[in-house]
Amino acid sequence: MTVPLALVTGSVLAVAPVDPAAAAVGLGLRVAAAASQGTNWRAELAADLAGLSGEKALSVRVGGNVAADTVILPASLELTADTTIVASQIVAGSSTVKVLSHGYTLRLYPVSSLRSGAVSDLVTIDHSGAAGRAGVEGADGLYGEPGADGDDGDFPDGDEESCWDDPSGYPGEWGEPGEDGGNGAQASPGGAGGGIVLDIPDGSTNSYRLIANGGNGGQGGAGGNGGDGGWGGDGGDANDYNGPFPYLIACYWNGGDAGWGGDGGQGGDGGAGGNGGAGGNITVTYPNTYDPASIDARSAGGSRGAGGAYGLGGEGGLPGEPGEGEDGDGWPGGAGFFGEDGQDGDQGQAGQPGRVNLTRRAIKDGFPGHDKAKELLNSTPCKNLITGNNPPEGQDAAAVLQDVMFITYSQPHPTSPTALAAASVGANGQRFVDFYPGYIFASGNTIYGLLAPGARLSRPLTAEEVQALALLHEIAHHTGTNNHPEGDPGREFNLGILNTCLGVTATFP
Ligand SMILES: [Zn+2]
Repeated sequence: MTVPLALVTGSVLAVAPVDPAAAAVGLGLRVAAAASQGTNWRAELAADLAGLSGEKALSVRVGGNVAADTVILPASLELTADTTIVASQIVAGSSTVKVLSHGYTLRLYPVSSLRSGAVSDLVTIDHSGAAGRAGVEGADGLYGEPGADGDDGDFPDGDEESCWDDPSGYPGEWGEPGEDGGNGAQASPGGAGGGIVLDIPDGSTNSYRLIANGGNGGQGGAGGNGGDGGWGGDGGDANDYNGPFPYLIACYWNGGDAGWGGDGGQGGDGGAGGNGGAGGNITVTYPNTYDPASIDARSAGGSRGAGGAYGLGGEGGLPGEPGEGEDGDGWPGGAGFFGEDGQDGDQGQAGQPGRVNLTRRAIKDGFPGHDKAKELLNSTPCKNLITGNNPPEGQDAAAVLQDVMFITYSQPHPTSPTALAAASVGANGQRFVDFYPGYIFASGNTIYGLLAPGARLSRPLTAEEVQALALLHEIAHHTGTNNHPEGDPGREFNLGILNTCLGVTATFP
C-alpha cells in the first residue's frame, strides 16, 4: 500500500511548537511517578530534564504542574490543586514560604538545588492548616421590665364617711422575667496541614524546615448571660380616711401587696470548640551523603478548641415595697428566682498527626552491613544458601543484592514495629530492601531477638555481622528461598545464615 503524499503548496512544514504547559504536565507526572517508585529520576529522565528552560516566578495562586529551569517561589503561595514543581533550581524568594494548602499537596523536585534567595541556607516551607475561627458569643438576655406600681386606694367623691367603698391600695405588678442568654456558636475546625513531598538533590548543603501542622480548632463562643428579672412594682397605699374631729369616723384599709420580682433569665450554653485539623503527610527523600538532622519536619495535629464558657443565669428581680395602710400594710413580695447557669460547650477533638517519612536514597557501598553481606556471598556455601538449593528456581543471591534498591525509613514498620528490615517490590518490579531504625541502630546483641531467648553463641557478633545477616535474610526473601510465616522472625533461616555464612553455632537451653 502506498501512502499518498499530501500536496503542500506555498508553505513550509514546520515542527509544531511544544506547548510548554502540556510539557510541564507530562514531565511533572513522570518525575513524580519515578520518584515514588524509588527510581533515580534525575538519571532516568535526564534527557527531558536537560530541556528545562526559562525562569518562572510563581504568582501567589498556583496549581498543577510547573516546569522551568528556575522556579521562584513567592513568600506566600496558595494552592488551587495538587502542585508539582520540577526545575533545575527552585529558589525560595524569602527564607519562609507560607503555603495555604486547601488540602492539596505540594511536591518539589529540584534537579540540582532548592535554596533560599535570602542569606540563610535554611528553607522553611510552612504548609500548616489555618486555625479555626472562634464561635460567635451568645447575646446577653435583656433585663425584665419592672412591674408597674399599684395605684393608691381611692374613694369615689363623698363616700368617705360611709366607708362603703374599699379604698385599699392596689397591688404592684410582678416584674417581667429576664430574657435567656443566647447560646454561643460552635467554632470552626482547624484546617488540615497540606502534604509536602521534597526530593533533596545530591550535594545539597541546605537545611529544610517543613511544617504541615494541622490548624488549631477555634474556641467555642461563650454563652450569653441571662437577663436579670425586673423589679416588682410597689403596692399602692390605702387611702385611709380620718373623719373630721370630733365626729371621728375612720375608714382604715390595707396597703396594696408588693409585686414580686421577675425571675432571672437562663444563661446561654457555650458553643462547642472546633476540632484540630489533621497534620499533613511529609515525605522527604535525601541523598546518602546528606545529614537527615538538617531536616526539621513537623506534622502535629491541631489542638482541640476549648468549649465556650457558659453564660450566667440572670439575678431575680427584687420585690416592690408593699403599700401602707392603717389596717395593715400589703403583703411583701418575694424576689424572683435566679436563672440557671448555662452549660460549658464541649471541647473539640485534637487533630491526628500526619506521617513523616524521611527516606535515604541509599547508596549500597558503605551502607551498614552491605559490604559484609557482599563479602559473605563470596563463600559458595553461603551464596548457595541464600540463592536456594535449586538454582534454576532460586535467583543468584549476589545478582539480587546488586539489583535491589535500598530505602531507609525514619519510622518503624507500620505493622511490625520490631522489624529490622523488609523485602518489598515496587509496582514496576523494582525490588527493594526497606530498612527501619532497628537495623540502623543494631548492635551485636540484636541477634538474640532474631533467634530465641536464651540462645548462646559460640562467639559474639559485631553489629555489622548482625546487619549483614538481616540483609541476607531479606535477599533470600527476594530469591524465593526464605519463606518463613508472617509474624515469625525467621529463626530457622537465621540459624542457617549464622552457621553457614558466619561460622557461628547457637545452642539453646
Ligand atoms: Zn523475613
